[in-house]
Amino acid sequence: MTDRYASFVQSAAGRALVKRLGLPDPPRLRRHHPGDPLLPGPALLGAATGGRLAEPLAKMLTAAGVELADPAATGQRYGALLFDATGVTDSTELRQLYDFFHPQARAVLPSGRVIVLGTPPRECATPREATAQRALEGLVRSIGKEFGRGSTAQLVYVSRADGPTLAAGTATSLESTLRFLLSGRSAYVSGQVVRVGGGTASAPADWDRPLDGQVVLVTGAARGIGAALAKVLARDGATVVALDIPAAGDALAAVANDIGGTAVQLDLTAPDAPTRLAEHLASRHGRVDVVVHNAGITRDKTLGRMDADRWDQVIDVNLSSQERINDVLLERKLIPTGGRIISVSSIAGIAGNRGQTNYATSKAGVIGLVDSLAPTLRERGISVNAVAPGFIETRLTARIPLVVREAGRRMNSLAQGGLPVDVAETIGWLAWPASGAVSGNVVRVCGQSLLGA
Ligand code: NAD
Repeated sequence: MTDRYASFVQSAAGRALVKRLGLPDPPRLRRHHPGDPLLPGPALLGAATGGRLAEPLAKMLTAAGVELADPAATGQRYGALLFDATGVTDSTELRQLYDFFHPQARAVLPSGRVIVLGTPPRECATPREATAQRALEGLVRSIGKEFGRGSTAQLVYVSRADGPTLAAGTATSLESTLRFLLSGRSAYVSGQVVRVGGGTASAPADWDRPLDGQVVLVTGAARGIGAALAKVLARDGATVVALDIPAAGDALAAVANDIGGTAVQLDLTAPDAPTRLAEHLASRHGRVDVVVHNAGITRDKTLGRMDADRWDQVIDVNLSSQERINDVLLERKLIPTGGRIISVSSIAGIAGNRGQTNYATSKAGVIGLVDSLAPTLRERGISVNAVAPGFIETRLTARIPLVVREAGRRMNSLAQGGLPVDVAETIGWLAWPASGAVSGNVVRVCGQSLLGA
């Protein structure tokens, strides 16, 4: 589906009209292509007094080929502004963030990045420190709404449970997270809080192929987000097992052939689906490193008009089938240490949505699944995360009535819908072996939608 308005505003006539009438102005977003530099310009680093991450941060960025700007230079424009706020232990010290960001508010290049690093409030030594660290969320989310032109802003809480120096797993996952957030892979992710720490992770030999050697299962892979996922994960080096219902067999085969993967025709709600899937994975690959639960359906009706069938189908496809499959794959130890489970939720699961009680229940349940499984599976070295897409341009959203669809597209900081590839890139980052210390997160891919904000 195309966003004709977004194309129109890129034209000369469109630009003039948008300016005159004060209409929404969706910028063209920077997206990832293998071999791209991480940023469109140099990065400016800042740090609060006593911060623990400034030094490792500078080292990581330099190793990733990012040019670090001279803080004394004037009139520069930046691909990113990064600030280590871990030294902030009292609300009065938040002024250091104002002092850093205020002079640079207009110096960020289109599709630039703002990243603030903090300490998770629950790990803070005093209530004052926890208060100040929590305050960072408000700053970052507001910058995401203010800076514009396709720029994004995120807060990364880096655990200090490991002690004063970064543990190897945390350091590797901080690097993978920065590489994702700085690059065009995170084009439609903004205003997010990501927690890093407490897991093992291994850096890839080549950051352009971060999934080399990994066996990945993608459900619902015949079209939409699932098809984009299969492509992105294969591009990043994975062997992809693409699954969908038998009725989607032709489209599924086309996706699998295109990427040199394999196709599994299976209805996830069939009683024997988990065991058939487990047997397939065991006999073909002996394991599955990454499980992506992407298959999902909607059967919309307001609750009073909804028959029980609509309720049952949606809960079964979107939630219960995921639980049954996880149980069997885990029980049979087919997901090894270093494995990943990634589920697709929705902002409807966070905000709720009229006409979608069944869908929102299932998608909130997916978040519950992440919350409950992540701590127990951490001991087995398996991470569990979810992504919550907002308005993504697919057949699912093409069915929404025009006026509601137009509102959904524009009601976010980037004034446009996301693309399936944006969700795929986010799932890709969570799947990387380097991201093992990112677990228990729900990352929204919604352009900082106003819904559920
Ligand atoms: P889609 O309808 O284009 O694709 C979903 C795929 O899942 C289809 O190929 C379908 O055949 C498959 N599927 C459905 N039931 C299945 C079953 N029982 N067994 C096996 N496969 C089954 O949808 P999409 O827009 O690509 O959405 C993918 C995921 O993202 C879904 O979980 C959806 O809820 C979620 N999501 C989408 C959006 C959006 O804006 N498109 C927003 C939030 C969340």
